[in-house]
Formats: sequence, C-alpha cells, structure tokens
Amino acid sequence: MVIPIIFVAHWQLSIFTQTFFLHRYGAHKQFTMSKGWEKFFHLLTYVAQGSSFLSARAYAILHRMHHAYSDTEKDPHSPTNATNALSMMLDTKHTYDDFAYRRVEPEARFEGDYPDWPALDRFSQMWVTRLAWVAFYIALYAKFATAPWMWALLPFHFIMGPTHGAIVNWCGHKYGYRNYDNPDVSRNTLIFDIVTLGELFQNNHHRFPLSPNFGARWFEIDPGYLAIKVLDAVGIIKLKKGQKMKYPADRFSEAA
Ligand SMILES: [Zn+2]
Ligand SMILES: [Zn+2]
Repeated sequence: MVIPIIFVAHWQLSIFTQTFFLHRYGAHKQFTMSKGWEKFFHLLTYVAQGSSFLSARAYAILHRMHHAYSDTEKDPHSPTNATNALSMMLDTKHTYDDFAYRRVEPEARFEGDYPDWPALDRFSQMWVTRLAWVAFYIALYAKFATAPWMWALLPFHFIMGPTHGAIVNWCGHKYGYRNYDNPDVSRNTLIFDIVTLGELFQNNHHRFPLSPNFGARWFEIDPGYLAIKVLDAVGIIKLKKGQKMKYPADRFSEAA
C-alpha cells in the first residue's frame, strides 16, 4: 500500500503549499513571514508541485483577478463561463501562461506584494526539469505499484497543482451552500474540507478575502487555518492583529 500513501502525501503537501503559500500568503498577504521563511516555503512549493509548479507571481495576479471579477466575463476561471471543468482548466491555463511567461502586463492594481523568484520560475518552466519530475513519479510507481489500478493515479502527479485549482474553482463556485449573499456564485462545498484544506469554503472566503480562517460558522473547520495557527504559535509566521474582515476588505476588489 505504498502507492496510496505516496498519492495522499503528494496531494496533501501540494494543496498545503497552494493554500498556505500561494493563496493565503502570496495572493492575499493574510499573514507575514521573514524573507528566509518565504524562500523556504517557496522552494517547498516547488518541490511539492514539481512538474506542475505554479509561479507565485502568476498565481497571485490570476487570483486577484478572480476576486475582482468573480463570476463575471473577466473572471479567469468561473464555471459560469465554461461548459465543463476541463474546458475551464484549459482556458485558465492560457491566462495563467500569459502572466507566468510574462507575455502580458497585468492591471497595475494586481501587481506587486507577492513572492517573486524569476530564476525559480524559469527553472521550473524548462521542459527538461518538468520531464525530470515526470520521470521521478513514474520511477516511484515502477518501484512501488503492486496492482494495475494504482497506475490510474499516476497522471494526477503530473498535474497536481492545476488539478487542485480546477476542483476548487469548479466545485467551490457550483456545489454546496451559501452563508453570504456575495455578488458572485461562490459556495461552501464541504464543512470539513480535508480534500483541499479549507479552499472549498469559497463563499466565506469571497466574503472575507483577508481572513486567514476560511471557516465562518462553528461547524466549519478549516484545516489550513489550523496549520496557520500552529505556525503562528511557534513563530514561523505572524498573523496580523485586527485584520479587516468586512467585505470587500481587499484592495484588489475595492477598485472593481
Ligand atoms: Zn473563488
Ligand atoms: Zn482568495
């Protein structure tokens, strides 16, 4: 049973770095950390996402656009603009690539105040490094797979980062319940979100984009926030005191 363990571990580490580093820290700055820890978590995100590493800069720009234009025509990924999750994923990739490969200049308000490591972006985007990760995943399966069905999990390792993005952006704006009457179609999909570590509380998050806790009601448990509380308690990150919680409470949304 080594392969299911490898799969769950890779899934969890990848979604942790996405929600903790790329999303809550990089795009929203819900807490602060030293430059040294920022580099550490940036590298950890690269190792966790491997062949499908998402540039922190491109992620932040794309995500700030998503908040500013949520579920309108200008939203880079909304189920209201797509016929299925796969077509949404492919559309998102085009917009993402424009920023990841620095082909298109973003609106000025979406720029800056995100972790930017151009050398790591270039390294991760080389085909030789992407293929080296793919070869590594295949080698793990060749060594540890003990049943044919396990091979069905292999392709997910190749595109782990975008897979999580597609689950969150499709399901979180389509299935579940609403706590708040936001001017978008965001929903809370799960009440205990171990699948994406809190990301599926989209309705709460769109209401309070600066709150590090994506749970809002007593029964909504956000595992990502629990990890953040531990990292704050041991001094690795610093939660901001008196964070403005009211909608839109986000400089990227305010101008929209
Ligand atoms: Zn959303
Ligand atoms: Zn967000």
